[in-house]
Amino acid sequence: MAKQHILVVEDEEDIRELVRYHLEREGYRITGVATGEEGLRIARERRPDLLILDLMLPGIDGLDVCRSIRSDPELSRMHVVMLTAKGEEPDIVAGLELGADDYITKPFRPRVLVARVKAVLRRARGEEANAGERVIERDGLTIHPGRHEVRVSGEPVELTVTEFRILHMLAKRPGWVFTRYQIVDSVRGEEHPVSDRSVDVQIVGLRKKLGAAANLIETVRGVGYRFRESR
Ligand code: CA
Repeated sequence: MAKQHILVVEDEEDIRELVRYHLEREGYRITGVATGEEGLRIARERRPDLLILDLMLPGIDGLDVCRSIRSDPELSRMHVVMLTAKGEEPDIVAGLELGADDYITKPFRPRVLVARVKAVLRRARGEEANAGERVIERDGLTIHPGRHEVRVSGEPVELTVTEFRILHMLAKRPGWVFTRYQIVDSVRGEEHPVSDRSVDVQIVGLRKKLGAAANLIETVRGVGYRFRESR
């Protein structure tokens, strides 16, 4: 399993590095940035699993970052843990109402930070695992994850392991755009390393095999791919 990616948006370098140190030690991959603008850019580009978001930031503040993320359909399911200073209670409430998953008040104990982050990601994993077993049916396409089986209009389609993983990953979240980077990240593994370029090749092969259902996989120019949302 690829390391989970956490983006830390915090303008105070000491705190950012403290967070990085403790989470890297737990096996997470960390990207640290100092501004809300940069945080939003990285969030859109790299789709981290979780965002640790300081509320008091120069420029766009944490609440605005949270608001932008929650109003962007492609990012709305990203998990957010707010970092707040004492006395920011109204902001904590606002943040939770905007859909932040949890908050940590500064100064915090590293052990508490790690525990909160793990809890949020564990919850997320649980939801994902449930979604992972569900049979997906759309416009004649059936994906049966338990049996590793795909059918189009009732006819079985032979997919490679990589093709199956890409299709399943996209289909679990219709309308959600996955970047090539994310696709590589989640399917790379056992057989051989997958490059950005080869994601495109895999998609071409996948569409060919899906035949009548090929148009369920949409190309989003300059970004990546998505499974067509039902209309
Ligand atoms: Ca700050």
